[in-house]
Amino acid sequence: AKKLGKNNYQFFTSEMNSTAQRYLQLEHHLRCALGQGELSLYYQPQVQIDSRAVIGMEALLRWHSPTLGMVMPDQFIGLAEETGLIVPIGEWVLRTACEQAQCWRETGTPVRVAVNLSGRQFQDFQHQRGLLDVVATVLAETGLPAELLELEITESIMMRDVDTTLATLQGLKRLGVRISVDDFGTGYSSLSYLKRFPLDTLKIDKAFVKDVSTDDSDRAIVAAITAMAGQLKLELVAEGIEDLEQLVFLSGQRCNYGQGYYFSKPVPVEQATALLKPGALS
Ligand code: C2E
Ligand code: CA
Ligand code: CA
Ligand code: CA
Repeated sequence: AKKLGKNNYQFFTSEMNSTAQRYLQLEHHLRCALGQGELSLYYQPQVQIDSRAVIGMEALLRWHSPTLGMVMPDQFIGLAEETGLIVPIGEWVLRTACEQAQCWRETGTPVRVAVNLSGRQFQDFQHQRGLLDVVATVLAETGLPAELLELEITESIMMRDVDTTLATLQGLKRLGVRISVDDFGTGYSSLSYLKRFPLDTLKIDKAFVKDVSTDDSDRAIVAAITAMAGQLKLELVAEGIEDLEQLVFLSGQRCNYGQGYYFSKPVPVEQATALLKPGALS
């Protein structure tokens, strides 16, 4: 009985520590990941619904760790923000995506690239000047025309400090890059700010798209967002389109652009390049 008790105790402590240990282990591995070439970008097409033309490619971070296996961004972006690792990682993402977009442009299939910005990259005042410098430098070094870069910033990050946001967005607009509001509809933004901020695109959060074929309130929300985007002359992209029914409803609402597994899941660069051939998604 004593031996069993001891074993139980060991089992208990290792269970208690496993979350913290996994976190520390993750941090250790993440610190090395960038230098060891374990990060890569997948790309998911943003599609004009009627023509099926690919108008953009969203870059989505993937981490292939030799010890942990494939780690998805939801499992490490938060940690990267807390540790500050998001700053070098975010810069790598931006540079890699812009190099790729320039490569697509030079090989005759020009397409916009969309890059996600984290709250820490965008909001922290000390990083703000840094963000503008980094974007300007990366555009100059890669040769990518600024209008082929779109930065995706979530609604909730933008609303944290509207004065800082406005200043940052104006700086980015002066560089000529496009600004997209990610996860739109989830962050309680005041509609007046949508008008004040220099925005180009709204992305309807996939939470509203999910049940749009069956849920009346989701249909109403999507219809309202679509009408508003039209009035404000913003490009509108619906995320998370998985089936034809959702697509038909959205295109009936004059939502012109979509993204989701229905068209393609995020794919490695070779497959993304194949999707840029005319008619690949028709
Ligand atoms: P997000 O920016 O909202 O990206 C969309 C997420 O939805 C992606 O998950 C994508 O794979 C997934 N998705 C696309 N189509 C569908 C669909 O039809 N159905 C469903 N259920 N999901 C779909 P992923 O790649 O795991 O990325 C998760 C989040 O991690 C992203 O959400 C973004 O917030 C963050 N993230 C990804 N890459 C980066 C990055 O380079 N930098 C930063 N700061 N954040 C990133
Ligand atoms: Ca995004
Ligand atoms: Ca999103
Ligand atoms: Ca999201």
